[in-house]
Amino acid sequence: MTLPGTGDIVAGMEKFTGSFTQQEPIPERAIEAALRVLRGGRLHRYNTLGDEIAEAALLEEEFAAFTGAKYCLAVASGGYALGCALRALGIGPGDPVLTNAFTLAPVPGAIAALGAVPVFVETTAGLTIDMEDLAAKAPGAKALLLSHMRGHICDMDRLRAICDAAGLPLIEDCAHTMGAAWKGVPSGRHGAMGCYSTQTYKHMNSGEGGLIVSDDPDLMAKAILLSGSYMLYPRHRAAPPAEAFEAVRYVTPNVSGRMDNLRAAILRPQLADLQRQCARWNALYRGMEAGLRGTHGLSLIERPEGEDFVASSFQFLLPDWPAGQVRAFLARAAARGVELKWFGAAEPQGFTSRHDSWRYAPAQSLPQTDRVLAGLIDMRLPLTFSEADVALIARILRQEVATVLQSGEELAAAPAAD
Ligand SMILES: *Cc1c(COP(=O)(O)O)cnc(C)c1O
Repeated sequence: MTLPGTGDIVAGMEKFTGSFTQQEPIPERAIEAALRVLRGGRLHRYNTLGDEIAEAALLEEEFAAFTGAKYCLAVASGGYALGCALRALGIGPGDPVLTNAFTLAPVPGAIAALGAVPVFVETTAGLTIDMEDLAAKAPGAKALLLSHMRGHICDMDRLRAICDAAGLPLIEDCAHTMGAAWKGVPSGRHGAMGCYSTQTYKHMNSGEGGLIVSDDPDLMAKAILLSGSYMLYPRHRAAPPAEAFEAVRYVTPNVSGRMDNLRAAILRPQLADLQRQCARWNALYRGMEAGLRGTHGLSLIERPEGEDFVASSFQFLLPDWPAGQVRAFLARAAARGVELKWFGAAEPQGFTSRHDSWRYAPAQSLPQTDRVLAGLIDMRLPLTFSEADVALIARILRQEVATVLQSGEELAAAPAAD
């Protein structure tokens, strides 16, 4: 029998048989553009012929236009973009840098890589940065590296007011908010610099890659030099004028992390299509939300009005569930083909980890974040899912939440691997 959604029926129960990690293929136009670059052999962004304009320089121009930024720089990864932005701001050894306690490892990693000290700010039940804790920790900090983790955007007006009052420069980590906005202002355009990732699981896919945007000519001149431009920076198009480089060109170290023309060529057609893709993600998200709404024991994350999100993943809370019941629920969902991530697990797994496993940062007490993460469940919504798939997954989750709540079933933690 055929079912709505990619599924099958086993022992009278629906089972999802799709993959949570399968992205769409790279569009044909991008493949053709990649082949042109490969046939030319000029993969390095400064290897141009005559008045040829490199794919990397064109991508920067197009991404600057997409975000409304004056300047843009394409780099090797999202993590590199974060480190480069911090370095351009002058962050160095021993500097305290605030960031979200709920984020992923590249964020505290970028801070720690500079010898700076990640200082974590608490998380709300809406999965955004806690404003009171931010205001309390702002004095003395050198910068805020704000992570729009899983695409949840905080009240940017309030956040800006806190940063401005404390003289705190803001860098946005937009790995999950490329294409999103707060009250119409694109994510990445609220502070000194915005950083994006084009790694496979983000909103555009070049395997690895990153982008930085800014309106500040001095910061961007430094970032371009840092990325390894040698003295070829005049070949950048979404770049500040030559004067901006004069003061810094002899004193800015080269920390090579350029993007190459092959990745840029793959990204340009994806950028042209990004808005349409974002709308498709949001349709899947709204389907999941509708499918799960009203499930006893499960809380949805309500999205604030000012937020134009791009939901390439879905989060919900099992508030104050005992860990054993969460584990039983995850095992039951997995047995029916639904792959979930739990940010409350004691041991880091796959891409998922939490602040106490980042031991390159000083240990910090974050009771509010710990309580939220203990019940936080996360799943990807790849564009290879159909709306029927999402409805099927939601039915499975509803049933398994009810089963575990009724039976009170608990599962012990697997022993930690070492
Ligand atoms: C993916 C990601 C980044 C950047 O990671 P790269 O893999 O280096 O591109 C930064 N922040 C968050 C929250 C991420 O998920």
